[in-house]
Amino acid sequence: MAQEIPFNRPFITGKEIEYIARIIADRKLSADGFYTTGCARLLQDRFDIKKVLMTPSCTGALEMAAVLSGIGPGDEVILPSFTFSSTANAFVRLGASPVFVDIRPDTLNLDESLIEGAITARTRAIVPVHYNGVSCEMNAISDLAGRHGLMVIEDAAQGVNAFYHRRALGSIGDLGAYSFHDTKNYVAGECGALCINNPELLERAEIIREKGTNRSKFVRGEVDKYTWVQIGSSYLPSEIVCAFLYAQLEMMDAISERRRQIHDFYYTGLSSLADEHLLGLPVTPEGCSTNYHLFYILLPDRDTRNGLLAYLKDNRIRATFHYVPLHSSPMGRKFGYKESDLPLTEDLSARLLRLPFFNDITEPEQSRVVDQITAFLRSR
Ligand SMILES: *Cc1c(COP(=O)(O)O)cnc(C)c1O
Repeated sequence: MAQEIPFNRPFITGKEIEYIARIIADRKLSADGFYTTGCARLLQDRFDIKKVLMTPSCTGALEMAAVLSGIGPGDEVILPSFTFSSTANAFVRLGASPVFVDIRPDTLNLDESLIEGAITARTRAIVPVHYNGVSCEMNAISDLAGRHGLMVIEDAAQGVNAFYHRRALGSIGDLGAYSFHDTKNYVAGECGALCINNPELLERAEIIREKGTNRSKFVRGEVDKYTWVQIGSSYLPSEIVCAFLYAQLEMMDAISERRRQIHDFYYTGLSSLADEHLLGLPVTPEGCSTNYHLFYILLPDRDTRNGLLAYLKDNRIRATFHYVPLHSSPMGRKFGYKESDLPLTEDLSARLLRLPFFNDITEPEQSRVVDQITAFLRSR
């Protein structure tokens, strides 16, 4: 029987163990040692971000961003429903209401033309999610936010090393959040980063991250003792995790290039099916440069998608779908949403299938995926 092709397998560069061994030798395991600051600096320099603070996850970075934007009970936040729960949770946990806006059929990102209609006197922030490392229309979104006095917080969990008109995703809004979870392009198990582009937010961000203390100022020698100054929490990653991540970030270009090859192989292999309208392929608009985070196809309807998913599983290929739209989830319903509120989100999420995508997938494995999709769709 054919070997199973997994959906994801985190890539290991080989240097991780060496870097971790170094910090064990140095006995410096908590945050903001050589590797934590090294990761932050690398991201700052490469992506032209004023300040990067490493966090334990993208979820943590989004939570910090929500606190920094001063959001509270009664406020509204505009975001897509086609996203992960963390995007909404960060704001909902502070008492705000999510206002879900439908997505564009080409990029599956927030439809910028629908945002203005969703703005009310209570709106405080817009949270664009850059799906699959393809940017939202940030010029239009920044312009709207400027006119209405709203914060822009980019959920760039999937957007590390992707660009919008040469600007790095995460560097465009007031704040941005990155993920280095196992399933993303550059991994450390669980890790993230908060990108701070509005310098007025930096001092408070450091305090929130350091348990509500001004310890960061103390470490820099700006105050002679540190103390509790505000409400905060602990959003510090372990130095062990950042040592792992540093090995990955150093190899960012090679990892991206490999992901481009995997993307191109699928794209070419499936393009004749796309020409015959048996499936749809991802679109990258002019001005967007993607990081090839994932590869999805759009099937004609939900039944075909579910049939193909089961067929691939029978043939030992692990594909998957996402997201269950947030507005149609039990939590979404609590906010008064119902099925049929966001037709494009519902239609597209029902037809989407993600293919196995990881750095060491082989060409024979990718060919097997393409051949099985072709066999299934042509037999119908
Ligand atoms: C992965 C992901 C997150 C959460 O990232 P963690 O690092 O696991 O907390 C948030 N938003 C989106 C869009 C994601 O893809």
